[in-house]
Amino acid sequence: MGRSPEGVALPHWYGLHYPTIEDLEAYAWELGAKVVYGNGNISKGAYFPAFEDYGIPAVLVVPNHSSHLAQIWSLAHELGHLVLHMGYTSPWTRAKQETQAERWAACALIPEARIRKYENASLDAFIAALSAHFEDLPLHDCPQRKLAGKIARIRLKSVIQEVA
Ligand SMILES: [Zn+2]
Repeated sequence: MGRSPEGVALPHWYGLHYPTIEDLEAYAWELGAKVVYGNGNISKGAYFPAFEDYGIPAVLVVPNHSSHLAQIWSLAHELGHLVLHMGYTSPWTRAKQETQAERWAACALIPEARIRKYENASLDAFIAALSAHFEDLPLHDCPQRKLAGKIARIRLKSVIQEVA
């Protein structure tokens, strides 16, 4: 089991296997966080850190998306905040933390070991992998395909930065 920069134990699948949404939920629970799904009134996810002194757990709020890819991406993003940003978030560091959470989520959904195995670090390969593992993406331009492109770009950027 690897460790995140903050010292939180990473789940067994991170970097190795494509996770299911249940894998992400189970990991949140392992870390003591609650996962709450929106009822249609919530359009944005949110992360509320724990207040351990008061026995209040961290809460991950995930909007209820009709797209499975959007759903798992939202949960992975809030999980990224939980793993990387356990404590207080200052407004000054917010933009940086958003970037970090997005990167954590993209690396969770497109595992390092799979990229190495197939030596296929490209936008098209990543979009195809997201389509194969999370949601069969239509070939025409649509929100799911746009989201897959965004995740693929974030993932590719982190591959390039690792090499550099
Ligand atoms: Zn965020």
